[in-house]
Amino acid sequence: MSTHQPDLLIFGGGIAGLWTLLRARRAGYQALLLESTALGGLQSIASQGIIHGGTKYALKGGVGKSTQAIAGMPGIWRDALAGRGDVDLSAARVLSPHQHLWSSGGIRSSLAGVFASKLMQGKVASLARAQFPPPFDVPGFHGRLYELQEPVVDVSSLLRVMMEQALPACYRYDPKKLQVEDGGLQIGQLRLQPRRVLLAAGEGNAGLLERWGMELPQMQKRPLHMVMLKGLLPAMYAHCLGASAIPRLTITSYPLGDDEMLWYLGGQLAEEGVTRTPAEQIAVAKSELAKLLPWMDFSRLGWATLEISRAEVASPGGKRPDDCYLGGEGRVMVAWPTKLAFAPRLGDLVLQELGQEGLKPEREEAPTLSLPHPPLASLPWEKVDTWS
Ligand SMILES: Cc1cc2nc3c(=O)[nH]c(=O)nc-3n(C[C@H](O)[C@H](O)[C@H](O)COP(=O)(O)OP(=O)(O)OC[C@H]3O[C@@H](n4cnc5c(N)ncnc54)[C@H](O)[C@@H]3O)c2cc1C
Repeated sequence: MSTHQPDLLIFGGGIAGLWTLLRARRAGYQALLLESTALGGLQSIASQGIIHGGTKYALKGGVGKSTQAIAGMPGIWRDALAGRGDVDLSAARVLSPHQHLWSSGGIRSSLAGVFASKLMQGKVASLARAQFPPPFDVPGFHGRLYELQEPVVDVSSLLRVMMEQALPACYRYDPKKLQVEDGGLQIGQLRLQPRRVLLAAGEGNAGLLERWGMELPQMQKRPLHMVMLKGLLPAMYAHCLGASAIPRLTITSYPLGDDEMLWYLGGQLAEEGVTRTPAEQIAVAKSELAKLLPWMDFSRLGWATLEISRAEVASPGGKRPDDCYLGGEGRVMVAWPTKLAFAPRLGDLVLQELGQEGLKPEREEAPTLSLPHPPLASLPWEKVDTWS
C-alpha cells in the first residue's frame, strides 16, 4: 500500500478540474487530478466554446448579477490565449475572435437601445452592409447585423493544450474502487490523504457527494438537444434573436477538412427540443434554418443530434445560476463552473480558498501514482455513426 499526501486532489478533468489543476500547480501547490473516463469532460468537449461576456444576458434585461460576473471573462481568456494569463493557452486555436448577432425582426429597436447603453459600449458594433461576412453578404438578407467582441475557442484544441500541460498530474481510476474514509481515501492499493479535495466532476459530483456522505450542495441538470449538420457550409458564429430577445438559435462552426464545415446548433432550439425525438428535432432545425436563413441551401447535408445535460448547483425554480459555484464542507470543496467561460473565475476562488486556509505552496513536484493517465475526450460529431 502506498500513501500520498497532496495539497489538493481534484476529481473530474473537464474545464473546471483542468483549469484549477494548472492554476494550483503554477502557484506551487502539489495538486493531482483523478478522472473516471477521459480528460476534456462530458460538457466541456460538447460545449460551443463561446467565451461569453454578458451581452446575451444584457439583452434579457439590463445589468443583472450574471452580467457583472461574466463581463471580465473574455479579457481574461484573451490574455490566456495570448500566453499572458495564469494558464498558458497560447497554443490553443481560436475559431473566431468575435460572434455575430442578427435579429429575425420585431426587436430591432430594443436591440439598438441595449447596444447604445454604457454597458455595451465597445463590446458590440453595428456593421455596415459592406462589412457583412458570409452568409449575410447577400441581397436577400435585410436584417441588421452586430458584431460581439466575445471569442469562440476550439474546445478540442483548448482541452488538448491543457491536457498536454496537466497530464503528468492526471490519472484515470475506477470510481467503483473508491473508498472514502476518515482522513483520506483509498483506491485499490493506493491511499491518498489530501489536505483539500475539490469535486469538479460535473454531473458526476452527485455520486461523489454521496460517497462523502454530503447532502449539500445539491445539483440540478438542465437538458439540451443540440443539432449537428455538416457539408459545404460557410463558417458562422452567430446568435439569432427572436421576439423574446433570448437567442432563438446559436450557431457555431467547426472545420472538418475537405472544405466541409460542421454547424453546431444551440439556443432556444436546443432548450425546447428536449422532449423531441432526434428525427423531430432535426425536422424543427431544418424548418428554423429555412425561416432564418431563407437564401441558403440546406439540402445535401448530413444531420445528427446530441442529447446532453448541463450540470450546475441547484437554483430556485431550476433557473440557470448567475455565477460559477464553489461551496462544500470541511476539507471537501464542490464546484460547478456553470459556464466554460467561468473556469478562470472558479480557479481564482479555489486558490483564494487554499490561501485562506493557510495552506502554503511548497513548490514540490506532485507524487507519481500507480494509475494510468487518461485519454482525451472526442468531439460529439466524431462519435456519430450515422448521419441522416
Ligand atoms: C451543449 C453545451 C454547450 C455549451 N456551450 C457553452 C458555451 O458555448 N460557452 C460556455 O461558457 N459554456 C457552455 N456550456 C457550459 C459548459 O460546457 C459547462 O459549464 C462546463 O463545461 C462544465 O465543466 P465541468 O468541468 O464542470 O464538467 P464536465 O466538462 O462535464 O467535466 C466533468 C468531468 O468529470 C468526470 N467525472 C464524472 N464522474 C467522475 C468521478 N466520479 N470521478 C472522477 N471524474 C469524474 C467526467 O468524466 C468529466 O471528464 C455548454 C454546455 C453544454 C452541455
